[in-house]
Amino acid sequence: MQVRVLGAAREVGRSAFQVNCDGASFLLDYGVELKKESLYPISVNPHEINAAIITHAHLDHSGNMPSLFVNGSTDVYATPPTFDLSRLLIEDMLRIQKSQLPYDFASVSKMMMHSREIKYKEKVERGNASFQLLESGHVLGGASVLVESENKRLFYTADINPRGSRMLREADLDFGEIDLIITESTYSQTNQMPRNESEEKFMEFAYEVLDRKGSLFVPAFSVERSQEIACVLKNAGFKHRIVMDGMAVKVNEIMLNYPEYLRDPKVFSDSVHQAIWIKGEKERKRALDEPAVIISPAGMLVGGSAVFYLQHLAADKKNGIALVSYQGEEHQEENFWTPAE
Ligand SMILES: [Zn+2]
Repeated sequence: MQVRVLGAAREVGRSAFQVNCDGASFLLDYGVELKKESLYPISVNPHEINAAIITHAHLDHSGNMPSLFVNGSTDVYATPPTFDLSRLLIEDMLRIQKSQLPYDFASVSKMMMHSREIKYKEKVERGNASFQLLESGHVLGGASVLVESENKRLFYTADINPRGSRMLREADLDFGEIDLIITESTYSQTNQMPRNESEEKFMEFAYEVLDRKGSLFVPAFSVERSQEIACVLKNAGFKHRIVMDGMAVKVNEIMLNYPEYLRDPKVFSDSVHQAIWIKGEKERKRALDEPAVIISPAGMLVGGSAVFYLQHLAADKKNGIALVSYQGEEHQEENFWTPAE
């Protein structure tokens, strides 16, 4: 078994690993690092890949997959929600930065024609090798990958949450003995605040802003983090107005189609339905009429409906902003936000 690192080594973004086994070559993720000038993994020839696997819908893992279909094709494997969510995010990215990307809408359609939906723990065999997906607890339909060949076992965690969340079950770590692990280490050098503490801090801040009749703006990733914030508010019995906008609303709709992938479908449904779902410009403007918690992508404040809210809320001191997602370095500098004096 031979592993080629194509991206995401000592960096966050553009995850891609090629695993060459006896008689089969697997591509584990093929992401894009979104920047002013986006970065891509080392390119591979789709004809040399027997199976490409998308672990989860976030673009740093899925965003470059359609480029395999510009001049070729291969089979792409993922869970059904991962395909739905990946397509949504990839097409949204295409609409925003069409000219920059190395593929077009036709490539995305072609990729979907070669999509092979699989369940967790369903073994797929190719040559003298096999792979299967294990639940990762990170986003809906998200998975880690276990590759087996020639008596060797490789485990690629992708993004993983061993504790789970209010929405999702914890990662399935029942992978047995392994010879090699490839894992994310985004927060490995930092001490993360315990979850209940960060939830308490967030709720305190939400009440502080709403009590002074301001609005709290929460730019969050559309997949997972936006919905998780809605669940946190619901769990805390938050009684003020909550608004969800942009891609987060579209993701809600997809997630409601896959109750079996959720920890508790009723809690999830109640949480997202306590919010007002914004669909269109007029509703968006009206969302600002009264104080509210506004959950709206993009999580790193580059594009999306987040920009509208930032422009309208940033100038007034009584409002607040809560950054609840990972922030890329470049984005932190560009979007440093200070309230008007
Ligand atoms: Zn992710």
